Amino acid sequence: MKLGRDSAEFPAFNSRDEKLARTFAAVERRLQTVQATHLGSAYNLTFTPAVPDRLRDLHFTNPPDGQGEVQPSPEIGPQEREALLWLMRLWGCADPDRFWGAIGASGSESNLWAVYFGREMLPGAMLLNSADAHWSFANAARILAIPRMDVAALPNGEMDMVDLATKLQALAGRPVILALTCGTMMKGAHDGIAAALLALRDAGYDRHSCYVHVDGALNAMVLPFLQDVPDGILPSFEKGIDSLSISGPKMIGTPMPCGVLVARKSHVVRVLQVGGGLRSKRAAAIGSRNGHAVLALWAKLIGQGYGRLAQDAQRCVIRAGQLAADLSALGAKVLYNPFSLTVVFPEPSDAIVRRYQLVCQDELSHAVVMPSVTDALLAQFLADYAAWWTGRGRMT
Ligand SMILES: *Cc1c(COP(=O)(O)O)cnc(C)c1O
Repeated sequence: MKLGRDSAEFPAFNSRDEKLARTFAAVERRLQTVQATHLGSAYNLTFTPAVPDRLRDLHFTNPPDGQGEVQPSPEIGPQEREALLWLMRLWGCADPDRFWGAIGASGSESNLWAVYFGREMLPGAMLLNSADAHWSFANAARILAIPRMDVAALPNGEMDMVDLATKLQALAGRPVILALTCGTMMKGAHDGIAAALLALRDAGYDRHSCYVHVDGALNAMVLPFLQDVPDGILPSFEKGIDSLSISGPKMIGTPMPCGVLVARKSHVVRVLQVGGGLRSKRAAAIGSRNGHAVLALWAKLIGQGYGRLAQDAQRCVIRAGQLAADLSALGAKVLYNPFSLTVVFPEPSDAIVRRYQLVCQDELSHAVVMPSVTDALLAQFLADYAAWWTGRGRMT
């Protein structure tokens, strides 16, 4: 058989070629170098307990979801269910039978899916999210072809409830999908969940005219483990929200991207009933899901356990508060939202931004104190920042 193209056009290594091994080694070195000084994004790089290597090379996918006609995979379905029940308990689902959950591709996909549930419930609805919300909501609005409006954010990054009330007034009863955030990406802010629900009620909305999603990508795995968190920002279904999502590699720390979405079952039932064709019998957008992610997530939740996750969350919040205090002591204007892992400060030199892979926006940078961030790394960063801060007048 003649190949369609000249195979020489496509570079390939023989599997015994040492170039292959060299490339893997180089990638490993690059990742290790970068990860050793990583402060800028909210990834937990501590992969314990790790899923055994021998499972890594087995192929396993997880069919769309366990509630539609497609049955969960017998190999990995029980672990997905166990992990979801764990999270449902954490997030105040009194009766898990009335909730649905799935481990999907990412936190962004979970947000898209939540907005889809809202659109199917409320045709013609307007999506409202704070100006500081994750970009996946703007994406979701475009993909699902629904109108969207920003609600103003306060300087600390949380949703401005006065502006929410104004926007709701202006909508004059039009159905609303409201996306709140528990731990915004840039400032680690917590939108007032109780306050937003009250604003909806004051504007005449009830359970049948609005859908409320909480994007808890990072902090829905932090706040439930802390004491003294004001109830108004605590992500919990007891408040009457419709869905809640997280991103797997963030606080839980799966080595691969994944996300979890939990929603009231009635929303999934509605989606399954739409249309009646085979496609609509599946409550997920994607076909095969990552079975390895299910196992990694399960290993963290059940293998590591509540105590360790709670300890990680508490320790990180204390260290983030300390970093904020140390940077403030230099005279830098620091923004730190209580109960958060995210510390915001004036953007330092390019060298520091690159070295610690800081995320920057509007001349501000942030560091996220994750469980994998060591005290030594924080001390090193603080020393570099202090040196830049003291010398910055001379350089400009
Ligand atoms: C990281 C993040 C997301 C997206 O999660 P992915 O798993 O990266 O898709 C969504 N919302 C917030 C607030 C985030 O911090």
